[in-house]
Amino acid sequence: MIHMNNFQAESSELRLEMLQAAKKVFESGWYVLGQEVASFEKVWAQHCDSAYCIGVGNGLDAIEIGLRALGIGFGDEVITTAMTAYATTLAIQRIGAIPVYADIDSETANLEPDSVERCVSKRTKAVLVVHIYGQAADLGRIKKICQDNSLELIEDCAQAHGARYNGQSVGSFGRFGAWSFYPSKNLGAIGDAGAITTQDNELACRMKQLRNYGQVDRYHHDIIGLNSRLDELQAALLTVRLKYLTLWTETRRKIAAIYKGAIFHPSLQLLAHPFDLSSHVYHLFVLRTNNRQAVREELSEAGILTLIHYPVSAIKQKALKKYRIDPKGLPQTEDHCNSCFSLPIHPFLTDDEIDQIVTACNSLPKTI
Ligand SMILES: *Cc1c(COP(=O)(O)O)cnc(C)c1O
Repeated sequence: MIHMNNFQAESSELRLEMLQAAKKVFESGWYVLGQEVASFEKVWAQHCDSAYCIGVGNGLDAIEIGLRALGIGFGDEVITTAMTAYATTLAIQRIGAIPVYADIDSETANLEPDSVERCVSKRTKAVLVVHIYGQAADLGRIKKICQDNSLELIEDCAQAHGARYNGQSVGSFGRFGAWSFYPSKNLGAIGDAGAITTQDNELACRMKQLRNYGQVDRYHHDIIGLNSRLDELQAALLTVRLKYLTLWTETRRKIAAIYKGAIFHPSLQLLAHPFDLSSHVYHLFVLRTNNRQAVREELSEAGILTLIHYPVSAIKQKALKKYRIDPKGLPQTEDHCNSCFSLPIHPFLTDDEIDQIVTACNSLPKTI
């Protein structure tokens, strides 16, 4: 069976480097918020063209801490997409703010700027952009909308490690970028981990307080914080794994190019080519079809597991039905939600497996 991920196929060389890094942490006798975290924060900030990086517990907390550091809270509206991981919405809900859903662009599944603009109200405080599937959203137009309406621009970069917009890393355009290092992300830890990047020193200081009980220094708590600290072990492992990220991203792009050049079937529709190659890091390779269930069953019989990102858009979640959406509705989100599915594209696919995937797609019954 070909799975969506295959961590066991990672090189023994990488495994060894990680074990050595772990050993160093064990021997240091310091396990939470120490040298390893500080040093990972430094390299990740650099990697993201950002002045500051704050390591936190996971991607959900990264968004929540960032929103709270900006003073966004109860009753404030945050415009975002319904075509994303549930954590994007949950972070907005957890601070008592109200998600408002704009529609997506059918070609990329990223937020559609005109729809974002239609969602703005007097209560809107921020636009939370998600670089979905690893492709940079239309930051130029969305940033302009934010400026024109005095809104904060925020980036959910959990799927877009290394993606660039006009040559500059995502996560460096908005007031902050939120990152997840959940194992299956393009840069994954060996457990849960996350980070926030920002250009703003004051914001960075507040985020550091928030992640650690709201304390300014030991035993002094100025604000109500949470416990979302990155640990030394994950930071040390991430520092090792970061050295491989560029290679993994190149491999993902090569596999995407093969799929695009070789998959031809009348029932399968590929998403648009990225406007420039560096803007897409192919966290996921998503296609659309009108006969999703049958297609996925056929592929599964051919030994290929697929997933749907995402089968239930946020507005269809029972917990979320009450929220406002684009007055013109979300037709593209609905359409995409009903037709999309994802092929495996992890960097440890063998040439044989890539061939198998292409052949299985092209061998689907013509009538499907
Ligand atoms: C994975 C993901 C998150 C949440 O990250 P966790 O580390 O699992 O909390 C948030 N947003 C998007 C778009 C994601 O893909």
